[in-house]
Amino acid sequence: MAKKHPSSKKALDALCPCESGKSYKTCCEPYHLGLLAPTAEVLMRSRYTAYTLGLAPYLLQTWHPDTRPLTLNLSEDQAIKWLGLQVKQATTSETTATVNFIARYKVGGKAERLHELSQFVRIENAWYYLHGTDPRTDSDTSY
Ligand SMILES: [Zn+2]
Repeated sequence: MAKKHPSSKKALDALCPCESGKSYKTCCEPYHLGLLAPTAEVLMRSRYTAYTLGLAPYLLQTWHPDTRPLTLNLSEDQAIKWLGLQVKQATTSETTATVNFIARYKVGGKAERLHELSQFVRIENAWYYLHGTDPRTDSDTSY
């Protein structure tokens, strides 16, 4: 029979919600604590994780000032349970980047998928989320 880890150890080793395969501590947490994400893909992952953890201030802070909502009330979205993330493709230049991903979630007991092509811009050393569209329909998916 496998020996059980104490729950505190288990929490420290918890896998990051962004499904990188790394622990939260070594994956998205440093960015939530203020480290600048080195690439748009890393920022996108950390923003997905922020949604799963309800970190509204981080989401606002990493949103481009031109498209950033005034407030973000994630408690209104409590019906959404985020299930996982799959990054399909990421492209980047010096100052702009795109990340194509599928996020899985459950709402009202129903499994859904958000397919988004996110646009990012780099200002000085920081990447910002600009907006997102559904790559299949081109409709706006950012919220
Ligand atoms: Zn992560």
